[in-house]
Amino acid sequence: TQTPVIAIDGPSGSGKGTVAGLLAKRLGWNLLDSGALYRLLAFAARNHGVDLTNEEAMKVLAAHLDVQFVAAGAGEPQRIILEGEEVTDAIRNEQIGAGASQVAALAAVREALLQRQRAFLEAPGLVADGRDMGTVVFPEAPLKIFLTASAEERARRRYLQLKAKGQDVNLASLLDEIRERDERDMQRAVAPLKPAPDAVQLDSTELSIEQVLERIMSEVADRD
Ligand code: C5P
Repeated sequence: TQTPVIAIDGPSGSGKGTVAGLLAKRLGWNLLDSGALYRLLAFAARNHGVDLTNEEAMKVLAAHLDVQFVAAGAGEPQRIILEGEEVTDAIRNEQIGAGASQVAALAAVREALLQRQRAFLEAPGLVADGRDMGTVVFPEAPLKIFLTASAEERARRRYLQLKAKGQDVNLASLLDEIRERDERDMQRAVAPLKPAPDAVQLDSTELSIEQVLERIMSEVADRD
């Protein structure tokens, strides 16, 4: 029998990162936060003085990315170690997010990350979150979720998140950035953000994280 995958795709702020983390904990499965890989590349590029638009150099960086994901306690995000240094929080800001979205448009980079992402598929199962988990990386996943929410609600969530971390943020500019990033992620030529034909679409605008989790768990139960 094959190791099962739950692919969760959607725009930033839809809640998929949080949901994927909780789901993996609840099921006792592995977790792939694919967005972190693109963020790490943007971060590493800055550290090494590599231009984000230099596809060849970014491809080399992607192929040699030295990163470890370390599981943390219940309710805590996994720790991310880049070249021996903890960057868990350092990669979660709008600047790195925008850089990640730029890097993510490079075909050679996406190609270089494919095997690395598929290597996360280990028993007893994998919850993979991103933009192309169901369409490109794990097209055979028996359960695919496409999680959305209105841009306003996503900006509001992001605002509260960043505020809680003590970052100085502005709601209107966050909304602009979210719209810009959505646009770039949906319009790009390679692996654009879109639901797989067999994805279950879930709008989380008016749902709590717990409610989203329950909907997904009931889809899991339906498939058992
Ligand atoms: O999900 P997160 O906001 O961390 O992702 C950062 C950026 O990485 C996204 O805006 C998107 O451009 C890119 N990404 C992607 N494919 C994925 C995951 C993330 O292109 N599977």
